Amino acid sequence: MVSRGAPRGVPKDAQLPAPFHGVHVAPPQTGCERLVWRKPTARCTHLRVRRHTCECQPVVYELCVSGGLVFIRRTVRKPTGLSVRETEWLLTARAMELWQRLLTGQAR
Ligand SMILES: [Zn+2]
Repeated sequence: MVSRGAPRGVPKDAQLPAPFHGVHVAPPQTGCERLVWRKPTARCTHLRVRRHTCECQPVVYELCVSGGLVFIRRTVRKPTGLSVRETEWLLTARAMELWQRLLTGQAR
């Protein structure tokens, strides 16, 4: 009798050192909404990052909260330095919906 299947104790995503990875965004899907990425406004100095995507990627997205509004900040690492852009500032519910769409490749 031949035993099939993965050996016990080896997780499926064993190629990634799990503790060092955060959320990876999915590739853009068909019909992906194109977001408007604006120059940072910096209208409030007090800002909290509630969620962020994995630092191993050349593009990192952060869900930021400031003054009761929420927006997504995108940081692109380029040879010339960092390029920082952000979405419009939204109410929490709208921003969370947008964050989910971004992660699943429905908006970018
Ligand atoms: Zn990663």
